[in-house]
Amino acid sequence: MPNTLTGKVAIVTGGGSGIGKSAVILLAREGARVMIADIDEQAGQKTAETIRSQGGESSFLRADVSRESDVKAMVAHTVETFGKLDCAFNNAGILEDGSPDVTGYSLELWNRVIGINLTGVWLCMKYEIPEMLKQGGGAIVNNASVASLVGLPGATALVASKHGVVGLTKNAALEYANRGIRINAVCASFIKTPILEPYFAAHPEEEAEMVRKEPIGRMGAPEEVAEAAVWLLSDAASFVTGHSLVVDGGYTAM
Ligand code: NAD
Repeated sequence: MPNTLTGKVAIVTGGGSGIGKSAVILLAREGARVMIADIDEQAGQKTAETIRSQGGESSFLRADVSRESDVKAMVAHTVETFGKLDCAFNNAGILEDGSPDVTGYSLELWNRVIGINLTGVWLCMKYEIPEMLKQGGGAIVNNASVASLVGLPGATALVASKHGVVGLTKNAALEYANRGIRINAVCASFIKTPILEPYFAAHPEEEAEMVRKEPIGRMGAPEEVAEAAVWLLSDAASFVTGHSLVVDGGYTAM
């Protein structure tokens, strides 16, 4: 995939950690200028500094993807800083603390998970797409999950939000397919990132259980999901839109 992103400008939400951070590093390596948006200022700034210290171009803006004013400012700031917007990896998301079943949710927890994981992705596309249209096109990847494809008992809001991301991705892809914007999703299974640390601390037996559930015999690395997302963002995927690319070590093949 040589130089397919040279000169392009990309936004990565949740770019301070895990899969988002790996995507920032990969995008910069492929020649893109990258705006990192995250609620974790320290992590986001650090990632931007790492890219700059390696000769790349990157900047950080604090933005909560569930707040419309933040998302609007994120896109405007990207264009002010880098002059345009070509690519977006709408990656920011949360795990819920765990709820016994569908009846166990408070409305507050439900709204928080849906607000970040689903509404956040919609808000990002709402402001990214008009900016991409101004320059004749672009590419978007939304970070979904295997929780977009199968149920996971005990994670109802996560599953509902991530199924929603795949639907949103398909619909937006159809609406903009003939206007130069490709919109896809990635669906990862169990990936070793900080998002799982509190869960493993509360349920130490679950790490081995996740490995056991993976046909490939291990959890994924964030770079392995970032590779898929960056390929979908690149011109190498020029005929791919409305697709959900599964990166799951065989989990959903069972
Ligand atoms: P992570 O916790 O390492 O990174 C997530 C980043 O998003 C953090 O930097 C966090 O500060 C940021 N963030 C959280 N809420 C935000 C908000 N409201 N606005 C802006 N930024 C926010 O987690 P990760 O594993 O890299 O997760 C990234 C995405 O991948 C999520 O959407 C997650 O659902 C998805 N995913 C992860 C796994 C996994 O096993 N790790 C599997 C499938 C899908």
